[in-house]
Amino acid sequence: MKTNKKPLTIIVIVFALELILVGILGIVFRNNINMIYNDIETGELQDINQVKEECIELRKTVNILLTTIMGLYVVTTIFLTIYLSKMVIYPYKKMLESREKKEKAEETEIKTKLLHMSEGIIAFDINGKIDLINPAAKLLLKISPEDFTFEDIFNKFKLNLNMEKLIYLEELASLEQRIEVEDKTVKVLFSPFRNEETNKPEGIIAVIQDITENVQLDTMRKEFVADVSHELKTPITTIMGYADTLLEGEYDKKTEKEFLNVISSEARRMARLVTDLLDLSRLDNNKKRIKKTSFDLGDLAKECTQKLAIETKKKGHSVECFVTADVPPVYADKDDIQRVILNILTNSIKYTPDGGNIKIYVGFVYSDAYIKIIDNGIGIPEEDLNRIFERFYRVDKSRSREMGGTGLGLSIAKEILDKNGGSIDLKSKVNEGTEVVVKIPTK
Ligand code: ADP
Repeated sequence: MKTNKKPLTIIVIVFALELILVGILGIVFRNNINMIYNDIETGELQDINQVKEECIELRKTVNILLTTIMGLYVVTTIFLTIYLSKMVIYPYKKMLESREKKEKAEETEIKTKLLHMSEGIIAFDINGKIDLINPAAKLLLKISPEDFTFEDIFNKFKLNLNMEKLIYLEELASLEQRIEVEDKTVKVLFSPFRNEETNKPEGIIAVIQDITENVQLDTMRKEFVADVSHELKTPITTIMGYADTLLEGEYDKKTEKEFLNVISSEARRMARLVTDLLDLSRLDNNKKRIKKTSFDLGDLAKECTQKLAIETKKKGHSVECFVTADVPPVYADKDDIQRVILNILTNSIKYTPDGGNIKIYVGFVYSDAYIKIIDNGIGIPEEDLNRIFERFYRVDKSRSREMGGTGLGLSIAKEILDKNGGSIDLKSKVNEGTEVVVKIPTK
């Protein structure tokens, strides 16, 4: 801050002037008194009237000097007051005001942050009364307007907890509790807080976090591990069973071949499962690099039908492919999209009784090209439709296994399309058929 020093200099000069004047006044006064005294001593002043006159003269001079000094004193006092109020009191007041403003702004900021935090915060005083609570806490713990205390809030969750237990937790210690609130799981972290000077406990802070998603993910992960183990266990048990039987007995060539066929097909199923799992894991960890290129979706659809010609023929299905003219090239990872089409087509072939009809349409809407695969197979019950893209979800487990399915085809397709900016939709009716629409962006 730039301060103006001029007024201070003037005040100092005037003060110095006043001192000089006081000095002059003293000297004048002393000299005159001396003069009068000497004059009386030497006898020059004998007449009392003369002495009086000299004294009056002296008084006049002193009066003038005194008035000047007083005037200067008043002026400097005024200036000094103005200067001090301008340079010291006013800035000090301003500093206090700005500090207050800053504190208020900080308080407002904290309040706003608390208000908009996704975590819930509740501060209880030493008696368990709510001191502060934010909306997230009310929402997460379903707190009603009648809840005012620690007990009001937490007693309904039947926690083996009370204020005393928490208040006397060791310094820097906290206690974590998981609570089920309707369909949500929340984690509450209780920590006592102390007075900074006396170190006496003053209350408890509860931080509430919604961990529903984490719990769900954890459950899904556990289920996935269980599913994988189960899926692998079935073919392994079959392979071991048939191999042991072959080793233990003497069988004719035909039976041996049958057993070996089972072993081979189960081993292949395991291999498919492991490949699917590896693909999923690569997609999950973003390890698979997506190489986007422009290509023709109609051509790819035709290639895929040719790749599956043997399976189609085996089941006696008819497959027709209709491609709308002028479909712009799609922009995606070609191998990925081929995988998606093959998965959907394989399903249509698998889940359609022999001699079925499979129709493929390729066209475009707005900036997306689409491929629609329609079959007249067994269809999917309505209640299963919203879970069909989950890993290992199958309408009929044994039928899927019989058909060589891993239960991962549609989830891989969805994952791939998510990564390529596309989408997948499935409609189905039991005993009527299934329609799957895949949309892929064009460049
Ligand atoms: P799977 O390897 O078992 O075929 P998917 O993830 O590809 O696994 O499909 C999941 C389940 O959805 C299948 O087990 C099957 O029950 C059902 N499904 C998929 N496509 C069709 C379809 N076109 N017709 C009837 N059911 C289907």
